[in-house]
Amino acid sequence: MEAQFYSLENIRRMTEEAIKDPEKFWGSKENLISWFKKPSKVREGEPPNERWFVDGLTNISFNAVDRHMDIAEKTAFYWINENLETKSITYRDLYCEVNKAAYVLKELGVKKGDSVSLLMPSIPEAVYFSLATHRLGAVLVIHYIGLSEETLNFRLIDSNSKIFVVASKAFRNGKEIRIKDFVDKLLENRNTPVEKVLVVKRGYDDFTVNNRDVIYEEVKPRGKVFVYPKEVESNSPSTIYYTSGTTGRPKGLYHSTAGYVIALNWTFKMLMNPKDNEVWWTISELGWPVWPMANLYVIPVMGLTGVLYEGYIGYKTDMFSRIVERFGVNLVWSSTTTLYSLKSMGEESVKSGDTSTLRLILNTGEPLNKGAWKWLRDNLPTVIIADAYWMTEHLYPVGCTPMGLGEIPYKPGSAGIKPPGSDFLILDDDGKPLPPGRKGYIVLKPISPALAKMHNDPSGERMLKTYWSRFPGYFYTGDYGYVDEDGYLYVLGRADDVIKSGERIGTLEIESVVASHPAISEAAVIGYPKEKEGGEEGILVLAVPAKGYAMTEKLENDLKDYLRNSGYIIDKIVLVNKLPKTKSGKIMRRLIRAVVRKEDTGDISTLDDPEILEELRRAIES
Ligand code: ATP
Ligand code: MG
Repeated sequence: MEAQFYSLENIRRMTEEAIKDPEKFWGSKENLISWFKKPSKVREGEPPNERWFVDGLTNISFNAVDRHMDIAEKTAFYWINENLETKSITYRDLYCEVNKAAYVLKELGVKKGDSVSLLMPSIPEAVYFSLATHRLGAVLVIHYIGLSEETLNFRLIDSNSKIFVVASKAFRNGKEIRIKDFVDKLLENRNTPVEKVLVVKRGYDDFTVNNRDVIYEEVKPRGKVFVYPKEVESNSPSTIYYTSGTTGRPKGLYHSTAGYVIALNWTFKMLMNPKDNEVWWTISELGWPVWPMANLYVIPVMGLTGVLYEGYIGYKTDMFSRIVERFGVNLVWSSTTTLYSLKSMGEESVKSGDTSTLRLILNTGEPLNKGAWKWLRDNLPTVIIADAYWMTEHLYPVGCTPMGLGEIPYKPGSAGIKPPGSDFLILDDDGKPLPPGRKGYIVLKPISPALAKMHNDPSGERMLKTYWSRFPGYFYTGDYGYVDEDGYLYVLGRADDVIKSGERIGTLEIESVVASHPAISEAAVIGYPKEKEGGEEGILVLAVPAKGYAMTEKLENDLKDYLRNSGYIIDKIVLVNKLPKTKSGKIMRRLIRAVVRKEDTGDISTLDDPEILEELRRAIES
C-alpha cells in the first residue's frame, strides 16, 4: 500500500486494524524492499524476542544501490561544507564507490557478522563505507566525532570491531579536527580489538602512517569492481546504536536487517511521502541514529536525493538558508536543538537565502516547544511542521504527525497521534491505564519490526530487565506525558526529571513557558530537594538569554514574575551561556541535578562540551 491522502478518521481506523492484526499490516509492507528470498512468515514469537519477516533473505546495499540502475544518472547525494564547496554523487557513482569500498573491506577480511566501526564527518565516503559494510553482511557501528578516548575504546571493545574506517580529519565550526591523530593515540594507549585502520584522506595530509594503517587511496581499485551482495537473513543484526545517554549510561542496541529497513521506509512515506524529485536534508551528526536512518536506510533505498552537510549549523547565521537555496531543499529532518538554534540566531537564519522550496520540516529528539513552533510558522508560513517521537530502542514513531498520509492537524507542543503500527498507553504509578488528560508514564506495546535487541544479550534477559520490568507486559519509554481527547500525545519530559511540587510537573511544561519569554532562547528546569517541606521539591530554572540580551538580575526577576503569572513559583533562576547537552543535542538535566545536589555526575561520556561542567558549577553556586 502506498502512502496517500486519508482522513484522520481513516487513519485512526488503520491504527486500530494494525493493533488487531500487526502481521497483516506489516505483511502488506513487505515489498518496500527487494528480496533474494521472500520471508516464510511475517512474525514469530513475542516481543522483545520476536522475529520478523522470518527466513527472508535480502541485502541492504543491494536495496540501496544495485536496484537503482534505471535512475543511474540521478543525484543520490549532494555534499556541502561550511565554505559552500560541493560535490554531487549520482546513483551510478554510488554503485561504483560502494563496490570499491566493499572490495577493500573484503580484502581486509571483513565477513558476514563481523563489526566494522566508522569515524567520519558527513562525507560521501561515510555513505560508501556504511553501505559497503552492509554489502558484506557485516554489522555497522558509527561513532561520534569527539567521544572521549575511554568511551570510544569501550565501544570498539563492546562491538568487537577489528576494522576501523576513519577519515583523516573533519572540519566543523571553522576548525580542523584531527581524527587520525586521535585514533592513533587511542590505539597506542589502549587494548582494542582493532587490527586495521582504513584511512580516508582529506586532501593534503600529514598524519603518521603505522603498521596497522591502510590508506584507502592507495588500495582503492582503479577500474570497475563488483562485490556480490551477501544474502542476509531478515533478523541478522545490521547496525549497533548507543542511546544518547541523556538519562544515564548509554545502552548498546542492535537493529535487524529487513524489519528495521521496512519499518523506516514505511515511516517516511507516512511522515513526508517524499516525491521522486524532492531533495531531503537531514541535519544530524553521524553518530546519532538519525543520520544513518535517513542517509543509509531510506534516501538511497527509495532512490531519492539527499544532502550531506559537513559542518555546524550555527557556523554562520545564514548557513541553513544558503544550503536550502543551493540545492532547492524540500524536506528537512532536524534535531530539536537545531530548530532552537535557528530561532536563537534570528530570522536571518531562515531568510538570508531563498527557502521557498521547503515543503516540510520534521522534528525529532525532544519535545518541540510552542515558542519554537510559532517562530517557525511565522517565519516559514508555507512550510508544514511535523513531529516524530521515537527512541533508539524503538525506531518506529510512537506518536507522530503522519503528514504523508493525510492532512493531520498539528497541535503545538504535541508529538502527534498514534500512527498505524504503534500502540502506546499512559499508565499511573501502579501500572493502571489513565484516561485522556491525565499525566503518567508512556509505555508501548510494540507491534512494529523496529524494536531493537540489546547488544550482547542473546537470551533477551537484560532487555526484559531494563525495559520491561517497571511495567510488566509493556516496554517502558522512560517518558512522561498525557493524551488529549483527540488522541494527541504530549511528551512532557523524562519520567526521571518529573518535578514534585504541588502536582507533578513535566520539565517541558515550565521550560516551554520560560522559552516563550522574548529575552530567552532556551531553558532547562529541574526539581531539587528542599528541607522541611515534606518531600516537596524546589524548582530551579537554567535559562539562556536570547541574542542581544544581557545576564542581569533584572532579567532574572522579570522571568520569575513572568513564570508566576503562568502559575509557577520558581525558587531559583540561573542565567547561563549554554545548557549541558548530549552529543545528539538533548538537555542533560541529571547533570544539573547532580551539580545542585553536589553529587557524583554519573556517566557523562556523551556530554557534548565537558567544560560546561565547571561553568555550571560556578553559575549555580554563585
Ligand atoms: P538515554 O536513553 O541514554 O537516556 P535518550 O533517551 O536521549 O538517551 P535517544 O534514544 O536518542 O536517547 O532518545 C529518545 C528519547 O528522546 C525519547 O525517549 C524522548 O524522551 C525523546 N524524544 C525523541 N523524539 C522526541 C519528540 N519528537 N518529541 C518528544 N520527545 C522526543
Ligand atoms: Mg532513552
